Amino acid sequence: MRIRVDLSLCQTHAQCVFAAPEVFSLNDDDELVYDATPADASLPAIEEAARACPVQAIFLDED
Ligand code: SF4
Repeated sequence: MRIRVDLSLCQTHAQCVFAAPEVFSLNDDDELVYDATPADASLPAIEEAARACPVQAIFLDED
């Protein structure tokens, strides 16, 4: 599984960080950082994060 966040859309509201903290986090500059190839076990949390994102910036690519 791969994920991609369109950082041009992201407004760092961090809903994804609350939904899937093992995948998404904010760095010291309050910029979003994320694991682009997370474990499959994180899928439910990532789907929740994608739903929660207010600007729909999270894209999932299941393979
Ligand atoms: S929820 Fe969306 S806008 Fe907020 S930090 Fe995550 S990707 Fe960015």
